[in-house]
Amino acid sequence: MPATAPPGVGHLRGDEPFPAAARRALGDAQLRRNLRHATTTIRGKSGAVIGEVPDWQELRAAGAAIKADAMARLPELLEQLETAVAAAGGTVHWAADAVEANGIVTGLVRAAGADRVMKVKSMATQEIGLNEALEAAGIEPVETDLAELIVQLGRDKPSHILVPAIHRNRAEIREIFLREMPGVDPGLTDEPAALAAAARRHLRQTFLSTRVAVSGANFAVAETGTLAVVESEGNGRMCLTLPETLITVMGVEKVIPTWRDLEVFLQLLPRASTGERMNPYTSMWTGVTPGDGPQQVHLVLLDNGRSAVLADEVGRQALHCIRCSACLNVCPVYERTGGHAYGSVYPGPIGAVLSPQLTGVADNASLPYASSLCGACYDACPVMINIPELLVHLRAQAPHPKSEAVAMAAAAYTMDHPALYAAAQRAAKLSRLAGPRGRGLPPPLSGWTASRDLPNPPPQTFRQWWAER
Ligand code: SF4
Repeated sequence: MPATAPPGVGHLRGDEPFPAAARRALGDAQLRRNLRHATTTIRGKSGAVIGEVPDWQELRAAGAAIKADAMARLPELLEQLETAVAAAGGTVHWAADAVEANGIVTGLVRAAGADRVMKVKSMATQEIGLNEALEAAGIEPVETDLAELIVQLGRDKPSHILVPAIHRNRAEIREIFLREMPGVDPGLTDEPAALAAAARRHLRQTFLSTRVAVSGANFAVAETGTLAVVESEGNGRMCLTLPETLITVMGVEKVIPTWRDLEVFLQLLPRASTGERMNPYTSMWTGVTPGDGPQQVHLVLLDNGRSAVLADEVGRQALHCIRCSACLNVCPVYERTGGHAYGSVYPGPIGAVLSPQLTGVADNASLPYASSLCGACYDACPVMINIPELLVHLRAQAPHPKSEAVAMAAAAYTMDHPALYAAAQRAAKLSRLAGPRGRGLPPPLSGWTASRDLPNPPPQTFRQWWAER
């Protein structure tokens, strides 16, 4: 089997299992209010603009088909991409894991003689812990996306794929700016426009004086070697055009075969993610354009466990993800716990199926259970990833205690023997009636009922009802 993402580097593993982290998050009423407000707003906007598209389901099917085709031909498409990027004057690097990717980027920044980089929002660089690696090498990373900047200044962790500071409200953001932003106006209000203006002033000098930028990529077109970044604030456009050196770190699954395929995703992504009809800023670049924009263009193709995901015929659907975050915004679990409880940079339903596969299920064994299996994520996903199916698939791979296998074998035996089954029903009813609250099972089954109520036993079982007739 191909290697999974190595431990000790990057942000794919939490410090504690999901249930423990979730329990703590559930006690934070402010967090729950912030999350409910934000996800409800995004859901409403997104639902309205999706309702305007008569062929939305056909678009979803097209997106799923393009991704399935790309995964089936991934090695071929990546080599085609490498050839096209090199032909356009760019340089392609292959990184087997986070350690290699961090080493490549750090080396490139040093070679450019820079001690500061400006960053476009990128999940891949968060996944590999690039900021920490750069800082360890004496290089200052500056996040330029507003929400990422809030997270960075607050020495916080992102909690949403698209809105990393979703757990913060306006008043909290104002406090962070007043505390951490050099030269900020002490009379700063918590009006969104005032906060954005403060960030813009803070970043302006960075944009004009930083010679190296690091980005991710939403898509890479194999036939042309074109990379694409979609964003809402214009900070990405500044990073992609102003510096002398541009380094893009991209998960290998972001490749799509043809330019025309972009048409499908550029319709799906903005409506499913931010609830916009089209993306405010869509930047595309193909290698180097002499005399215009960065003259050193690098593409780092990151595996970090993706080959292992691809090797699983069921699990590989997770690689279709276009990081729109629609599944987070509809998930009843995410809405209550927030993103930090998942322990990985990929929270919510997609995180519950992607992180365990990238790290190996044993390292994130509680995440496939971080779901009620309600299926809202599957309905919302613009590329039709069957997340509930993946969750069940991964639950089967998670390590299970021996006692569970014994209990299941006993249950199977009981159900196979009618008299025993009827006796078990009678015993269960008696024990429930005798129990203190009648709502939980005794140990070792109490774990199952720790977060579930057992229904009250019916007055009559089906067998009793049938026997009377
Ligand atoms: S799994 Fe689907 S809904 Fe969730 S972030 Fe990825 S593309 Fe969006």
